[in-house]
Amino acid sequence: MQKSIERIAGDSEGHSYEFPVFRFEGTDKAAPSAYLQAALHAGELPGVVAIDALMPMLEKAEAEGRIKGSITVVPQANPIGRAQYHFGEHQGRFHLGTRTNFNRGFPLLAAPDVELLPDTTLGTADQRLKTRLLQLSIGHDIVLDLHCDDEGLAYLYVHASLWPAMADCAAAMGVDAVILWDEDTDGTFEGASITPYLNLPAEVARFDRRVATTVEYRGILDVDGALAGADAEGLYRLLVARGVVQDQALSTPGSFTGLVAPLENIDMMPAPRAGAVLYKVKPGDRVAEGALLATIVHAPGEAGGRTQLFAPQAGIILTRRSRRIIRAGEDLLKLVGDRKSADARSGTLED
Ligand SMILES: [Zn+2]
Repeated sequence: MQKSIERIAGDSEGHSYEFPVFRFEGTDKAAPSAYLQAALHAGELPGVVAIDALMPMLEKAEAEGRIKGSITVVPQANPIGRAQYHFGEHQGRFHLGTRTNFNRGFPLLAAPDVELLPDTTLGTADQRLKTRLLQLSIGHDIVLDLHCDDEGLAYLYVHASLWPAMADCAAAMGVDAVILWDEDTDGTFEGASITPYLNLPAEVARFDRRVATTVEYRGILDVDGALAGADAEGLYRLLVARGVVQDQALSTPGSFTGLVAPLENIDMMPAPRAGAVLYKVKPGDRVAEGALLATIVHAPGEAGGRTQLFAPQAGIILTRRSRRIIRAGEDLLKLVGDRKSADARSGTLED
């Protein structure tokens, strides 16, 4: 295993950012290669500790000559976001200098060719970081971007072209749900990882062996040793199932039995009033149409000071907010409905 340090120039003289990259050399040129990164949203740490638990497993496999495809690992992909504190609160989702989401604005290339990447020498530091992360990842058959939600189930975003071919991956990882999407106009990292292949001939794009996914490892507070160990084993099982790592002791994953739904089925449930949220449901709950989801206490102690929100359709609660203060218009939760949502915003990749 080789460790190298990447340096990203800052936006002013005298400072720069750095992050380590770990590379395992594969012994079989025909085997699929893999790229794993975590904490692109810098405060989302369940994937970071999962990689921390995965690394010894990969080093053991390397020592035993079982790494077939090359593996590139970036445990903390966003040193800019990691350093951003604003009045004592960590801010790892948006670049404070440009107000841009760290998981938006990646260039959506016409082909998987790093020569097509824009020159960001004169751009801002977050743009340079995004270009570098794509340079590191493009060309790998398997690209995993590890995130987490506020509070939530473990789930994957997967482009429709990769499903159901990726069902073995979802089963190997042991996630609860898979959300399928088909268009990314905002430039998420996942979108930038799969879009270059969409217009290629099938025999070049190789969707049968390609993996690109945003992994949502539950909630922001689910940074836990036992979960990290289980997630590391899930990642390892995926690498074995796809032939990146050889391990005869592992059986092939069974069929995926979790929830699979298109993005357009998600209801985001904006809050009609500002106030304190009393949730009636939690991630994983199955709700009927018309079920009470949450009560917002907007005028405490007053008659009519509470507003209730009901499920617009039957479905499963995928996520909810981790804070209990809400403004009018902010989303309360993600409900994966059994049918297409009536919410016009439904269908955008929201991680
Ligand atoms: Zn994220």
